[in-house]
Amino acid sequence: MPRDPHPPGIPSPGISQIPHPPGPPSPGTPVPRMSQDPHLPGTPSPGCPGNPILSMSWDPQDPHSPGPPSPGCLCPGCCRTPILWDPHPPDAPSSGCPGTPTPGTPSPGTSISRTPLTPLKCPIPGASPPVAILGAPAEDPAPAVFSADKVPAGLDAIIIGSGIGGLAAAVLLAKAGRRVLVLEQHGKLGGCCHTFSEKGFEFDAGIHYVGQMHEGSMTRFIVDQLTEGQLEWVPMPAAYDAVVLGEPRRSRAHRVLTGEKEYFNGLRERFPGETAAINKFEQLTKSVVSGMKAVGILKLLPLPLARLLCRSGLLPWLSPFCRMASRSLKDVVDGLTANAELRAILSYIFPTYGVLPSKASFSMHSVLVNHYLHGAWYPKGGAGEIAFHTIPIIQRAGGNVLGRAPVQSILLDSQGKACGVSVKKGQEVVKIFAPTIISDAGLFNTYERLLPAEARALPEIQSQLGMVKHGEAGFSVFVGLTGSSQELGLEATNYFVYPGNNLDEIMKRYLTSSRDEAAKSIPFLFVTCPSAKDPTWEMRHPGKSTLAIVTFAKYEWFEEWKDEPVNKRGDAYEDLKKTFVDAVMEVVFKLYPNIEDKIEYISGGSPLTNQHYIASPRGEIYGIDHDTTRMRAEAIATMRPQTVVPNLYLTGQDVFTCGFVGALHGALFCASAVLNRNLHLDVLRLRKRTQAPTNNYKKRD
Ligand SMILES: Cc1cc2nc3c(=O)[nH]c(=O)nc-3n(C[C@H](O)[C@H](O)[C@H](O)COP(=O)(O)OP(=O)(O)OC[C@H]3O[C@@H](n4cnc5c(N)ncnc54)[C@H](O)[C@@H]3O)c2cc1C
Repeated sequence: MPRDPHPPGIPSPGISQIPHPPGPPSPGTPVPRMSQDPHLPGTPSPGCPGNPILSMSWDPQDPHSPGPPSPGCLCPGCCRTPILWDPHPPDAPSSGCPGTPTPGTPSPGTSISRTPLTPLKCPIPGASPPVAILGAPAEDPAPAVFSADKVPAGLDAIIIGSGIGGLAAAVLLAKAGRRVLVLEQHGKLGGCCHTFSEKGFEFDAGIHYVGQMHEGSMTRFIVDQLTEGQLEWVPMPAAYDAVVLGEPRRSRAHRVLTGEKEYFNGLRERFPGETAAINKFEQLTKSVVSGMKAVGILKLLPLPLARLLCRSGLLPWLSPFCRMASRSLKDVVDGLTANAELRAILSYIFPTYGVLPSKASFSMHSVLVNHYLHGAWYPKGGAGEIAFHTIPIIQRAGGNVLGRAPVQSILLDSQGKACGVSVKKGQEVVKIFAPTIISDAGLFNTYERLLPAEARALPEIQSQLGMVKHGEAGFSVFVGLTGSSQELGLEATNYFVYPGNNLDEIMKRYLTSSRDEAAKSIPFLFVTCPSAKDPTWEMRHPGKSTLAIVTFAKYEWFEEWKDEPVNKRGDAYEDLKKTFVDAVMEVVFKLYPNIEDKIEYISGGSPLTNQHYIASPRGEIYGIDHDTTRMRAEAIATMRPQTVVPNLYLTGQDVFTCGFVGALHGALFCASAVLNRNLHLDVLRLRKRTQAPTNNYKKRD
């Protein structure tokens, strides 16, 4: 029975086709796998309270859960894996426990972006300590490189891109029994969360610190669920950020403190005459964040209703977030105080979402201030751990995550519905089909590069593209040093270094300068030391340390070399990069004077580097721009996972906001849309249930 819009027939030379599995229903129709998901949308059993996807495997209080786990065993990998992971288990595995990794057996596919370390905890009382995967090769000799034979049969969904937006959406679907294939253009998995090694030094591509990871927080709960409690988070020091204005000396820094009271009291102590301004800033940021529910509502309401709400004029009255979204950060802060230094310190965190103060939405800024109010965390073992602990869950449900799989286009059937993707494999093009296609590649990539012209021309898509613009691009410097962080005096605190107080002006001057002059006026550096943040670092990389520095850069300055192959862009490109690296390091040496003669490795990453490794179309750090336009209610409502192309969904940072947590929420919205159920509500209910005062396991014993 022909059931594929692109039936295999006689494939054209160089085209392999991977079809749907045989049997109805027709292409484009989701293929429910009832045996794996008894609670698919629309088919609840009578009286079913709505079995949360996240607790599918086993929940002692859930009448629909499959049954208790094997006695005493709570480890991942068990036949009855409890997704509800106890955050405070006894910390010792049993020998032979299936969740205990043995040395030299990193989970397939994921070790390509990871220097293995973290032991999977197998919390069985009275057994030997966890086994760290030491001695495993840093690079998997057989990484999860794409080939047609690694594509599972009977796919339910294909996800383009393995950033946290793609991986989290895949895990959520896997927990609902869906077989998902994640395709990543780069050889390392994880998108901005991938880790890479150069000359023996390990660097994170794009996760330096994450907020809201305290035990018991909603974000931590979601991440624990998605990694089955295996990803550990290390708290940063109480002063997680430090702001240096002017001469780059650490002694001059304003230290930003963990804790609501400490954060604002720190400001009041430094600026005793500015209490009224600081109080107002505190009140405004908190009220904006309290109004964030509106963002969720705008994304969850049917689009016509959401648009009606936007046009009703009610939103600014109902939500402080919407009220302040169109006000720029500069406008609000300038209105609070004339003190130039305080203005700068209230604004210092704008680079974490990438918009200069005169264009940044005060609401977006408030979200970031709030994000770190309870402190900051770093993924133990490095950002590569994120992919390492999510990929096995996708694979366990029959799916796979494959690198070096550049998706060339999204395939549409004769009715214009998304039904597959084509992947370039050498000279060959492989077509893969599934009833649901999800893109984590970002709005611009998805619409402008992957969709066929006829879909790209749809008015709805053109209108969405017209609402947003590319975010600022970035320039990174990766430094490998001889000597431990302690020996070199490197701190876990991040430094935000600005040469002056007028942050908007120095940013504007830089971004409008010529490429030959730009390096002379770099307005900002984010200086971070992964080796000082990670307690496992010294064990994995004894006697070495690293620094990563990030600043902004214009794509246009480097655009001339965009078509040249990576690492072979020629001397002129390298020379231009060197002007940036040298200017950056001049400042960094003042901040950390002990490192000057300890550099073993140094490399600059331009916007073209971002373009190559994370496929950002113009070297963007955070996807589409988070300016006041994007924060308008109408734009918030429109940027949602559902697209005008049936069966095509978006996930990741462009669906919600940037950042690890922003992209994660993008994935929750996306999986909710695909599964047709509100996973945010599921999470809320599940958290309430699992955080009951008594421990169910103990109670039963
Ligand atoms: C330098 C830098 C520093 C950062 N620091 C922090 C931080 O400290 N804390 C924080 O919370 N956030 C930080 N961020 C932001 C954060 O990392 C991102 O917002 C978030 O991880 C984005 O996740 P995503 O899944 O939406 O996209 P991405 O992680 O960008 O993933 C998209 C993936 O899609 C792939 N892709 C694109 N096109 C194709 C295609 N055609 N075929 C196959 N694959 C494709 C890309 O290669 C990429 O892997 C930083 C970002 C950068 C760049």
